[in-house]
Amino acid sequence: MARHLSGTVVPVALSGSAPPLRLPPTASRLKTARIPTVPVVSPRDLLGRPLRNLRVSVTDRCNLRCQYCMPERDYVWLPRQDVLDFEEIGRLVEAFTAVGVDRVRLTGGEPLVRRDLPRLIALLADNPAIGDLAMTTNGVLLEDEAAGLRSAGLHRLTVSLDTMQPDRFLALTRSDAHARVLAGIAAASAAGFPSLKIDAVVMRGVNDDELVPLLEYGRASGAEVRFIEYMDVGGATLWSREKVFSRAEILVRLEGRYGAVEPLREESSAPAERFRLPDGTVFGIIASTTAPFCRACDRSRLTADGLWYLCLYATRGIDLRGPLREGASVEDLAALLRSAWLERADRGAEQRLASPARTPLIAPRELRRDPHLEMHTRGG
Ligand code: SF4
Repeated sequence: MARHLSGTVVPVALSGSAPPLRLPPTASRLKTARIPTVPVVSPRDLLGRPLRNLRVSVTDRCNLRCQYCMPERDYVWLPRQDVLDFEEIGRLVEAFTAVGVDRVRLTGGEPLVRRDLPRLIALLADNPAIGDLAMTTNGVLLEDEAAGLRSAGLHRLTVSLDTMQPDRFLALTRSDAHARVLAGIAAASAAGFPSLKIDAVVMRGVNDDELVPLLEYGRASGAEVRFIEYMDVGGATLWSREKVFSRAEILVRLEGRYGAVEPLREESSAPAERFRLPDGTVFGIIASTTAPFCRACDRSRLTADGLWYLCLYATRGIDLRGPLREGASVEDLAALLRSAWLERADRGAEQRLASPARTPLIAPRELRRDPHLEMHTRGG
């Protein structure tokens, strides 16, 4: 496959095993130049969508084994030498901000298993083009880290929590860390994040009876709860259509308990639709499975080893680690990002919705062959 870079056709490496991008010789001479901080016009993809949001996975490792994400017994991990160091991540993010990204979310795996993460946050917080710096965590290690994350410059925090029942947490995650997650949320609340959210994946017959307890817990903790439909992404090998508890069902359940739920009218590319209860409590629903929002999707994902995915469902990524380690400048990388984004037509969740016989997306054997297909590798 070929992409145009500054008028020159260059090969682009797709997937980790393909050869890295070869840059034109003139590009490397610009190695030390920096992108000036002037207003950036983001490229529009083939569906007219800008590039605004970047999710950066800092590790593929996780200290939980959630049923909807990592249900298998064994996993193949990224080679350590391939994982980007903080300076490399910072440099790639600089290239992304040079083409219009202004919202960055750190993900994993579980980002807090990466040592010294506040140093990366401080490094990214120094990038003046990033208006919103957020992180999603499972909360297990959060209690000791929350204050440091906040003082390093993290703006917003989202904690995954699918149940208020310790026994159920153990069954769902194969970990007894439920109390530690709650302590982590309390610490995050005390650390004064301007925005604290709790994300709960709802699965029929597993935790769909906990919408109200989760909502009440979020309210008491000062966190906005978002209910997420069970998605058939790579790694969700136990997924079935029957286990999806839909947005419509969530609303019926909550209206039965609280009365009329009012949708909030918001202009946003954020995945969550937001609603208000009669008492003013606001919550969100991310209906990626039954009501996908690809038409407004301005997100892409960077794996811990520097592959760039233009869609959560994409089967191939673009290698940025190769050019970066061969000395590509920020401008070189920005040109590569721009040319690839201009050709983007991904709308994976919408295509999945249209497929008649919907089963798990990728078989375990394929996931072991290419761990980049796993949601925990590309940052969900
Ligand atoms: S499926 Fe792909 S295009 Fe659709 S919202 Fe998710 S990441 Fe965006």
